[in-house]
Parts: sequence; C-alpha cells; structure tokens
Amino acid sequence: MRKTFLCFWAALAVAASAQPAPLDSAGVYDKLWVQTSADYRAHCLQTYGWATRSLRERSSLEGTRDAQGRLVETTNVQERPLAVIMDLDDTVIDMSVYRTFLHSMGRDFELETWNSFLKYQSEHAEACRSVPGALEFIAEAEKLGYTVFFISNRTEATRPETIRVLEKLGVNTKDLDQRMMLDAGAEEDARQARGLMVRLGISEASAEGQALLRAQSRKERRRLQVSLNYRPVAFIGDDLGDFLSFVPEAGASPEKILQARYQAVANARERLGRQYFILPNPMYGNWSPGSTLPKEGAAKFLRDDGFLDYYRSLSR
Ligand SMILES: [Mg+2]
Repeated sequence: MRKTFLCFWAALAVAASAQPAPLDSAGVYDKLWVQTSADYRAHCLQTYGWATRSLRERSSLEGTRDAQGRLVETTNVQERPLAVIMDLDDTVIDMSVYRTFLHSMGRDFELETWNSFLKYQSEHAEACRSVPGALEFIAEAEKLGYTVFFISNRTEATRPETIRVLEKLGVNTKDLDQRMMLDAGAEEDARQARGLMVRLGISEASAEGQALLRAQSRKERRRLQVSLNYRPVAFIGDDLGDFLSFVPEAGASPEKILQARYQAVANARERLGRQYFILPNPMYGNWSPGSTLPKEGAAKFLRDDGFLDYYRSLSR
C-alpha cells in the first residue's frame, strides 16, 4: 500500500515537472540584472572606460587651459571651454530601487511616487548609489579640465533633493546651478527655446524651429544652450535621447518610430564610442512600452522567426 502511495506521488511529481515552471521571475529579470549581475557592472565600466580614454586622448591634443584651468578648444576662432554632458538617472545615480518599488506595487511610473522616492533617497544615504564607473569618470574629466554638465528631465522643483544626493555620492557640486539643467516646465521651456532660436538665427516656422519647439526636444534645447558657450565633446547617457535629437512625428506608428530610431543610430554610428557613450538600461527608456512601443500588446513585437509554429507542428 505504502509503495503504491509513493508511486502515485512520484508520478504526480513527474507530471508536474513536465509543465513549464511558473514564471515567477517574469518582470524581474531586468532589475535583477542591474542590481545583482557582474555583467551589468562590466558594461558600465566598459562604457566609462571608453569615455575616459577618449577624454584623455583629446586633452593631450587640445592641451590649452584658460585662466580658470579649464581645457579650451584650440581649433576655432571663438575659444570655448570643452564640456562633457551627462544624464543623471541611471547614468550617474542608480535609480533601480524605484523600479523595484514600482514592481512590488504593481504600478507604472507616476510623478507622485517618483518625487516621493527622490525625497526618500536624499534623506537616506543607503539609497544613494551610483552607476559603476560614473564617479571616477566625473572626477577624471574634471581633473583633465573638462566642465561637466548634467542635463536631466527631473523637474526644477526637485533640484534640492538632486543636489543632496550628488553631494552624498561625492560629486563636485561647485557651480552646479550653472552646470545642472533640469526641466523648468513647458512654459519656461518654450520661452527658452524661442530665445535660443533668436540667438542661433533659426526661424520658428522652419522645420528645425518646429522640431526644437516639440516637447521631445527638451534635452536637445538644453544641449544647444550649453553649446552657446562651451564645446561639448562627450555625451553620456542610458537613452538615445541623451545625445540624439530624435523627434518622432506626432501620431507615427510604432513601426515607423522604430525604423526612424534605427536610422538615427545608423547615422550616429561613427560617433558611438567616440563622442556618444551609452549605458545599458533594460528597465525603462524611450524604447519601452508606453513610449516607442505601444503600452498594450507590446509582446507582439517579439520575434520568434516561425519557431513556435514549427515546434507545434512536430507534435501533430
Ligand atoms: Mg537616464
């Protein structure tokens, strides 16, 4: 009797093991990769390593310093200090904990929880973490004489929290008011865009002017603002929008946006790894559902190249 009973449970166990394991980890892989894998660290150190070498090479070619010790260009009539433009979230500051929170709560990004997290982070040293390689890169860039700018879509209202976190991380915050450009809101943003167009001689009616006025060009406008007085030579970010002025047409299909994004990368190929340095971010970004991909049904963009039908046909 006991033997029959054991066989019964053994048979059940075999049947159970034939079923696919429940995907408990679905939706967690991206955050696990960022928070636990040595591979993520290697990617970040690799990117920051390339960026550091690029700055060192350039500084040996353009070795002129101005009275304030800043590295300046020597090729143009107008002398501009050389600059590095960096994004903040998941480029300098590790924000994966907020994504863990969203996952635990089963919620999407919302400004209310985001702002709450920024406050929490600024008050809790244990929540202040940097992206591997970022702090060493900033210190080296400044030692070489580059001026480091931070361009982020964090709102202007969160500037105090942002400064506190950067201070806790040991980032140089001297003159940060001029070097950190946050999102000042749509109205102020449009006002600045118009001022910029006047200075650069771009007509508002032109395609360039219209593109600059679009909401998606927020970072591009601030990059142009920096380039009025500095020569940016390196851009570091975790999203194409951190260096490319990519403005999809309003209402364009996901397929069309994808093709345009691929084209933008193809056009930028020569600059990747020389001027543009991208960090991995599998958790979110302009590539993700709700942005480039549709919020609902994004899984239909997964390819299986016909394998599913083939596999099913084997058991028929
Ligand atoms: Mg970012």
